[in-house]
Amino acid sequence: MSATTQSITVLGASGSIGVSTLDVIARHPDRYKVFALTADRRWQVLATQCLAHNPRYAVMKDPASARELELELRRQGCPTEVLQGDEALAQVAADPLVDTVMAAIVGAAGLLPTLAAVRAGKKVLLANKEALVMAGGLFTHAVAESGAVLLPIDSEHNAIFQCLPNHRADYLQEGLKSSGVRKILLTASGGPFRNTPVSDLSRVTPEQACAHPNWSMGQKISVDSATMLNKGLELIEACWLFNTRPQQVQVVVHPQSVIHSMVEYIDGSVLAQLGNPDMRTPIAHALAWPQRIESGVASLDLIATARLDFSAPDYVRFPCLRLAQQAAEVSGMAPAILNAANEVAVAAFLQRRIRFDQIANVIEQVLTRIESVEPHDLAHVQAADSEARAMAQQLITQW
Ligand code: NDP
Ligand code: MG
Repeated sequence: MSATTQSITVLGASGSIGVSTLDVIARHPDRYKVFALTADRRWQVLATQCLAHNPRYAVMKDPASARELELELRRQGCPTEVLQGDEALAQVAADPLVDTVMAAIVGAAGLLPTLAAVRAGKKVLLANKEALVMAGGLFTHAVAESGAVLLPIDSEHNAIFQCLPNHRADYLQEGLKSSGVRKILLTASGGPFRNTPVSDLSRVTPEQACAHPNWSMGQKISVDSATMLNKGLELIEACWLFNTRPQQVQVVVHPQSVIHSMVEYIDGSVLAQLGNPDMRTPIAHALAWPQRIESGVASLDLIATARLDFSAPDYVRFPCLRLAQQAAEVSGMAPAILNAANEVAVAAFLQRRIRFDQIANVIEQVLTRIESVEPHDLAHVQAADSEARAMAQQLITQW
């Protein structure tokens, strides 16, 4: 291991982003060494990854899965130490031996370990957008206090980051307008139901919702893409990451997912970042930033792509996008409430307990019933999250 080798913890290693991260890391053994890998239950995936990357620690959230992993690693003669539970997740995110943390746990479960990495001043590669949506103010405050370096992995935000001026401190302090930015153009593929008749959306299955036309992702974000709530979460994420207001972010449907987002300046210049839809590009960008490394992603063939289309989002088809935009404008606790209600609704849809079109109903009803106040601390956010989850569960049980 050379003096410049970065030691990395991958939170959510068994997931779609985790697997892509380890793929990029494996291409650069001279630059990166895995310190810890974490998952919830998929211990078999973690076992294979431990054998390939030989981390110091493997953490399972679920106790039974931790025992299985422990047995398997001892059987295989792998020296990786197995830990279990929430404290261990935070511990491997904040360990003094760690340089960089990939935050790729899905949903609100990622908030505490990601915050632990931020508070420890790590370089944090943020895929877990729900953490920022829930607690953006507290999160960005913690980044400023600790001196952590926060780099966006979400392809759109990574693209925006690449198109913004290099002097990040300027726009983080003064806002994007002070850097000559007129607006952010946040691109969206429109997901698998972009052209499905609206009257058919009550009958679509979890399998259809998870079959994204351009991206291969975990189930939760796939359903969020199908409802376009994902784009709403990304709008909120963009406001926190780039110190801007929802009114300065325009959602543009671009079905080819070749342009990953754009930035328009006051002189009329529009800068875009393009590439094949493969998360290894933003992952490699953030891992090596401000340098560049190979990611394994094929060269973009613009001749084969042939055309790039753009249109406005359809709010009748995608009511979740409007709900998220409203929550972004209300701000305060509204985004955390929206996120919690959505997580419960998506899980219920995946379990076939509610229809696809009822996801928006759950979110809307929960948002109407809980008042959005300014969050004063993390416990306050967690209480609102729990209240919204309980209310969403209750609504679903009553239907
Ligand atoms: P996956 O569902 O594929 O993976 C999620 C990871 O989180 C798995 O390792 C899973 O473990 C772990 N996990 C789930 N629940 C818990 C929990 N309660 N405690 C601890 N760990 C848990 O998700 P993705 O990789 O698709 O997405 C991860 C994050 O990245 C999400 O926030 C998503 O919005 C964001 N993102 C993803 C993109 C993509 O292309 N996939 C693109 C942009 C952003 P286990 O496998 O054991 O369940
Ligand atoms: Mg995205």
